[in-house]
Amino acid sequence: MNLFKIADDQLEEFLSENVKKYEMNRNYDWGPENRTNVSNLSHFISHRVVLEYDAVLRTLNRQGYKAAEKFIQEIFWRVYWKGWLEMRPTVWEDFKRFEIKDDEQDLSNAYNGDTGIDCFDDWVRELRETNYLHNHTRMWFASIWIFTLNLSWQSGAAFFLKHLKDGDAASNTLGWRWVAGIQTKGKHYLAKSWNIGKFTNGRYANVRLNENADPIEERVNHPIIPPEYAPFNTKRNDSLIIFENDLNFAGREDFYAEYKNVYLVCLDNDQRKFKIANPVMEFKKSLLHSFQNDVTHPSVITNNFNLITEKEKSFDVVYPFVGESLDYLNGIKKELALDISFLHRRQDLFCINFCNKGFFNFKQNIPRIIEEIKPPIPDR
Ligand SMILES: Cc1cc2nc3c(=O)[nH]c(=O)nc-3n(C[C@H](O)[C@H](O)[C@H](O)COP(=O)(O)OP(=O)(O)OC[C@H]3O[C@@H](n4cnc5c(N)ncnc54)[C@H](O)[C@@H]3O)c2cc1C
Repeated sequence: MNLFKIADDQLEEFLSENVKKYEMNRNYDWGPENRTNVSNLSHFISHRVVLEYDAVLRTLNRQGYKAAEKFIQEIFWRVYWKGWLEMRPTVWEDFKRFEIKDDEQDLSNAYNGDTGIDCFDDWVRELRETNYLHNHTRMWFASIWIFTLNLSWQSGAAFFLKHLKDGDAASNTLGWRWVAGIQTKGKHYLAKSWNIGKFTNGRYANVRLNENADPIEERVNHPIIPPEYAPFNTKRNDSLIIFENDLNFAGREDFYAEYKNVYLVCLDNDQRKFKIANPVMEFKKSLLHSFQNDVTHPSVITNNFNLITEKEKSFDVVYPFVGESLDYLNGIKKELALDISFLHRRQDLFCINFCNKGFFNFKQNIPRIIEEIKPPIPDR
């Protein structure tokens, strides 16, 4: 099973037809059996099996900007969130440090889909079984978690990270913060029974929710810390580390071939703060195997850094962005006396320039960003 081909075919199929109705239908959750109104690509995009910029350019080529504007914007939400967190890494650090003090029974009921709120309990089962939830459902889910079940957004965000195949430090943390009302301060997302009824085609009605809760308050300020990036165009070391969340190799094969050693890494649960469920771990590992099969230059799958560093201490690393892999690397850097050179995609570096303000500002710059990312020059 070639997952890169499956992802590619799935994008192609979505672009050939369904994308045209995306804007009109995307907010409906018709249930796990009918997901034709959305692309269902997030588990591939979050590992960059499908690269955001390629997806945007392919969408433009197939449908033009006007017909697919909303879909393009949604892909850029992900790029924006990543850049936003990159500038404010303390948001991720705070989330990691947070001590969960939720009522144990309430938390256990939520984890097990035993709250008595039918839609929510069904979504818990769906999340555990399919490792995916529709975007609108994620919003309702998070809102019910925080404002009706009175649980902390952090415990909910950790629960999502555990079960979502597309679990991503930026989109997930900031998505939960946005619902809670701390991302856009004072503006929270309150799930309403009528809205759930309408956008689930009446599958759920008269859901008893707290529809009047106040937003969560956050007293901490997260200053912008402009990241220092060295644009990467040259190989510096003989070994390259690629984490599981940036596996796109289009245009990079020749570059990889310049390395003596290429290591593909997916951290195990004992190397992570937020543990992930088996199907999610299995999915990540299957992506590494697909990569290994598809890229002609040999690579080694391992997460044992002692083995990697036995011979050498200097590496090039495809920059994994703020998140678990970067934390782990930073953690062992001193201990193993590592000298790490990060590789940054030029498109990522360009987009980060527009992530210091709100998404509205980013959105205004999408035409400029598109100019910058096309034609699809293979980057290093
Ligand atoms: C509380 C909460 C947590 C979330 N956690 C994650 C997460 O961990 N990982 C993740 O990839 N997305 C997350 N999202 C965003 C969004 O829900 C998913 O990306 C989307 O549902 C994936 O389904 P799709 O591929 O069919 O999306 P489509 O609607 O087909 O969108 C196409 C692509 O655009 C991107 N995208 C769409 N909407 C968003 C969004 N709101 N934010 C960021 N990117 C978006 C995704 O890469 C997606 O695959 C979260 C949203 C919320 C409200």
